[in-house]
Amino acid sequence: MTMRAQKTKARDVLLGVDIGGTKVLAGLVTSRGKILHSVRTPMAARKTAREGLQSVFDALDGIMGDPRAKRARSVGVSVPGWVDAVRGVVHSAPNISCWRNFPLAREIQRRYGLPVRIENDANAAVLAETVWGPGAKHANVFYVTVGTGIGTGIVLHQRLHSGRTGGASEGGHVTIDFNGPRCGCGKRGCIEAYVSGTAIACRARELLSKPGTRSSKILKAAGGKLDAVKAEHVAKAARQGDRLATQILNDAADHFAIWLGGVIDMLEPDVIIIGGGMASLMMSLLPRIRRGLRTWAANPRRHEIPIVRAHFGADSALAGGAALTIR
Ligand SMILES: [Zn+2]
Repeated sequence: MTMRAQKTKARDVLLGVDIGGTKVLAGLVTSRGKILHSVRTPMAARKTAREGLQSVFDALDGIMGDPRAKRARSVGVSVPGWVDAVRGVVHSAPNISCWRNFPLAREIQRRYGLPVRIENDANAAVLAETVWGPGAKHANVFYVTVGTGIGTGIVLHQRLHSGRTGGASEGGHVTIDFNGPRCGCGKRGCIEAYVSGTAIACRARELLSKPGTRSSKILKAAGGKLDAVKAEHVAKAARQGDRLATQILNDAADHFAIWLGGVIDMLEPDVIIIGGGMASLMMSLLPRIRRGLRTWAANPRRHEIPIVRAHFGADSALAGGAALTIR
């Protein structure tokens, strides 16, 4: 599949679905990437497989009520987990435990009579950025979303690189230190265990529980409650000049540079796009990340690769689902 926006007709309406751990979002998207209308339903992610599927049907039924949905020729679905895109099967997803080896594409296809394509959420998001975002001028795009966790998507020669079964591009679980902290995936020292929102909050709580840190503005930002400390409180305190917060974010930037240096040496993308809930924070750390790349990317022309912010924010998975349907 190539992803040039001009391959769709102006009248085309694309139908995307974003399945998350708590909600399903089904939406109609124009061929220019504008979200026309979306319907949100709760996701029964921890009940039976059928109940989980029913949540998806509820969102899709809602959107099918819009007459413009009749113009959609297929459905694209973004799932945060291990997806076998070739067979249309959700292998497993940590936040959607109701599905294991679940034939999601076939079930949706059977009910609505439309072809269905499913993909991992970051794989879908990189397509949206390549069709409608800063990746549009480029053939080789590397996308990283930094939020609760870290997801990555790779487009090579204008095609999504999803691997043998769809399991490629799990860059968040590339290890930078085998002695590092344990990651949710079971491995040690994954970049997700250093730079995600979860990891930064965890590191902050660990440091704040040591003596001599009571005066840190991080704790103040979190209302004085250690358990309530989140990455956003660290970011806020760092903006106010707090030393501990600055140190935590600098460490995160340095780890990110080690990892991104490896990505550049492996892929040498035309552009690196940063998305996710922590995109602004990561962009604010860019000067330090760039300095780190002088050490951690061997590529002599690493400095020529633009590192830019994603076009889509919270809509990235929905737009990604829609982008999956562009042929
Ligand atoms: Zn991991």
